[in-house]
Amino acid sequence: MEKAHQSWLYEKHAEVAIKNLRRNCFEAKYLPTAEAAFDEIMGRVTRETCIGMGDSLTLREIGVVKALEEEGYQLLNPWEKGISRPESMPIRRKALTSDVFLTGTNAVTMDGKLVSIDGLGNRVAGMIFGPLKVIVAVGANKLVNNVQEAIDRIKKISAPVNAYKHDYNSAYRPPCSDTGICSDCRPPARMCCNTAIIEGCSRDRERICVLIIGQSLGF
Ligand code: SF4
Repeated sequence: MEKAHQSWLYEKHAEVAIKNLRRNCFEAKYLPTAEAAFDEIMGRVTRETCIGMGDSLTLREIGVVKALEEEGYQLLNPWEKGISRPESMPIRRKALTSDVFLTGTNAVTMDGKLVSIDGLGNRVAGMIFGPLKVIVAVGANKLVNNVQEAIDRIKKISAPVNAYKHDYNSAYRPPCSDTGICSDCRPPARMCCNTAIIEGCSRDRERICVLIIGQSLGF
């Protein structure tokens, strides 16, 4: 598909999703490019903001993580180079009481819900409760029709690619990291232990801001 046609289609689909996200009391906005998303996110934090993070390739792809690291922001980054898994745990916990929690999500449904599957759960925990504001950056390639389609997409694409990318040792290695196909595995190898379907922000209106970006980002 030509890039212009793809962009048009992404925007049209995003319009519907945004209307329904707002109906569900999310803050929601369409940004046509990664550059626009970068400016939007950087405009929402200051050097006084304590910034937590859920793992997100999208945030890396649009350059936000690098900018926050290099420009001296208060970023709680458990994936910082040189930090071991045990050392990352207090950072993950602290991120749950941050001012702003930056994250991606696995899918946004056209009827205005966020669907995410986590292994450890710190990403979905921060989305649901704790941080004062949550900013979700998501490429329009992750727009799906409904929750079932979201879960199917995650099990077909996101989780296997994520498993493959992480190169786990044998005790924690999900079968999909070798086969590319979900076999509904069991813990401890299972990455898909925590499925969160966030249907709205009813008690804390617009606490979660969903930025839909008119490009293919993440997986
Ligand atoms: S094989 Fe396991 S880790 Fe991989 S997608 Fe299926 S449930 Fe998730």
